Amino acid sequence: MAERALTHSLIYFSETLIFSILALLLLAYYRGLGRQYVKFWTISLFALAANQFALFCQNTFNEQDVGSVVDISIALLRQISLYLHILFLIFGIYAATKQQIVSNKLLVIGVSLAGVLGALAALIYGFDVESVFNRFYLRESLSAFIFGSALIASAFYLYSAKINHFSGKVFLAFCLVVGTRYIAYSFASIIFLTEDWFRYLTQNLIYIDIGVNTVLGFLVLIWMQGAERHVASTAINRAKYLGKHDSLTGVLNREQVLEKLTNEMQIAQGSEQSLCVFLLDIKRFKFVNDTYGLKVGDLILGEIARRLNQSLLKPKVVGRLSGDSFMYVVEYENEKQQLTVSEHIHALIERPYLVSQQEVHLQCSVGYCEFPTDANVADELLQKANLALFQAESNNIQSVKYQAGMQSQGRRLLAMEKEIRQAIANEEFVLHFQPQLNLKNNRLEGAEVLVRWQHPTKGLLAPGQFFDDIEALNLYSELDNYVLEKTCQIIANWYQTYKRRVPLAINITADEFQAPDFISNIQNLLMKYEIPPIYLELEVTENVVITDINLVMNTIVVLQNMGIKVSIDDFGTGYSSLAYLRKLPIDKIKIDRSFIQEVASNDSDLTIVKTMVELSHGLGKRVLAEGVETQQQLQLLRNIGCDAVQGYFISKPISEEEFTKYLKRK
Ligand code: C2E
Ligand code: CA
Ligand code: CA
Repeated sequence: MAERALTHSLIYFSETLIFSILALLLLAYYRGLGRQYVKFWTISLFALAANQFALFCQNTFNEQDVGSVVDISIALLRQISLYLHILFLIFGIYAATKQQIVSNKLLVIGVSLAGVLGALAALIYGFDVESVFNRFYLRESLSAFIFGSALIASAFYLYSAKINHFSGKVFLAFCLVVGTRYIAYSFASIIFLTEDWFRYLTQNLIYIDIGVNTVLGFLVLIWMQGAERHVASTAINRAKYLGKHDSLTGVLNREQVLEKLTNEMQIAQGSEQSLCVFLLDIKRFKFVNDTYGLKVGDLILGEIARRLNQSLLKPKVVGRLSGDSFMYVVEYENEKQQLTVSEHIHALIERPYLVSQQEVHLQCSVGYCEFPTDANVADELLQKANLALFQAESNNIQSVKYQAGMQSQGRRLLAMEKEIRQAIANEEFVLHFQPQLNLKNNRLEGAEVLVRWQHPTKGLLAPGQFFDDIEALNLYSELDNYVLEKTCQIIANWYQTYKRRVPLAINITADEFQAPDFISNIQNLLMKYEIPPIYLELEVTENVVITDINLVMNTIVVLQNMGIKVSIDDFGTGYSSLAYLRKLPIDKIKIDRSFIQEVASNDSDLTIVKTMVELSHGLGKRVLAEGVETQQQLQLLRNIGCDAVQGYFISKPISEEEFTKYLKRK
């Protein structure tokens, strides 16, 4: 007996050492790699070492009285370390396969659970000398059951997660076998506890467990190596793939294009011909890549190249300059032909692309210039066509021809871009607020946020003075995000200072409304500033809603479900009917100022506004009239049942300071 106890003590002690060393090794890995799953497995192995140490103590000092301090301490260490070991093993598996960060909240819950479970198992019956069996069930059977179940669950998880590398599969098998062993042991320990053979088995399980633990240690190491190699090889494959990318579309790449263009220019010069250089850029191609994947994206690019190459107009040069921009060069005789060519290019691109039974529709922007009129060096031609393309893209025009002066315009915009970005960074954009009055209860219903630029030299600028540049530079998204965050900050500030929240309405630009991360962005802000969503309202102008109704509809539905209100701005200025409004789950319609201007003097405008109000009410939407400037307008709007008003008569847009004063007065 004593001899065996000594052997066991030795085994437990060496296992403690081995797992500590293994854990230290992993810790070093973690320091280098910094991956969360390595950290979890490090903790898991430390816990296993602690568990083995507890077993060593238990085995060595087995003369302890039940309920003594040493006995209870050992039991606590043994139980808690075991639960922590399995907990972090599983967290590690999850983090490794999902490539996702386990949240702190989940960690706290898991660790607390392991602590409570371990403590309960150690303490209940821990002081009761009589309850030998109960104590055994709690400490041995229960922990074996939980341990086994957790491993089996992990096995199923690994199976469903379809891990491809070798160590993943071995891990799965390991979890399945060892899990079964523990569950079987757990049941057997309840039924056969008093049998001699079971006692014998229990005493000898230790030898199996050494093997099992060792396998686990190695598995963790092998997995890590395999996973990291996998990451590296994917990265290498991707790099290779991107390197070949150009040959995929089967057209010339940038250098080849410029070479060929130079050649064609010489030939044209010899025969006194003129060339027209078209640059085209596919709109929102990133969307195709994001939705259908890079492979499909490539197929479509290849198809575009093929269409351009084989086009009827016999182009002199076709090539791809970068990602989704192409060059297309033809000979021409007069200006009219240039227009025909650009129409032809649009027609080619807009023909639907068939992708796995689905039609993908694309559009492009075109900029072009002439040889030899505009330039006689290939590089310069490219640059000028690019300037024209830039104009086309930023003004949303299908095709633009290069004109002298575009360069200075381009330079001005470039300088402006720097200035605007700096202004965002320096928080030069400030928010003004225009109160909205509820006509039903004569109370403040909220305010619209209107941005101003507190320019260091030019003073306070209204949107009309800088929005053209923002649009041309495609900076709307930056500005909208800035305004969104500022607004949330202000709502949170007001709440802290005055214990009061005022609903604020923000203007959102069309593109931003359709941006893929728009919703998650808002969610994050609401969470960050702890703002209930009902205090945020988004205004989207009528025209936007119609151009991409399905996408916008989805966004509105999601926002609505989150509790955020959406209203239609500038209503009546678009070419829509009220009919489509029924389909949109919006809260409020804002009738455009132009209708309100005339309500007091023009009968037909009054009739239109009245009809808008009645129809909107029929559809269950609220109506707000914008630009109310006189008492008379207000009275008429009240009479026809308008729900709310906004305009100079109530208040001009005012600064934050003035607005808080306004709030206090009310
Ligand atoms: P909007 O959304 O139609 O905003 C109402 C505009 O009408 C504001 O001009 C406001 O000052 C003005 N206004 C309000 N009441 C009256 C009135 O009684 N009479 C008259 N004549 N005008 C009134 P503002 O601030 O210059 O804004 C112009 C436009 O700029 C806004 O039109 C909105 O489309 C856009 N905008 C303003 N702030 C932002 C912003 O933060 N983000 C985005 N994306 N757009 C914004
Ligand atoms: Ca607005
Ligand atoms: Ca408006």
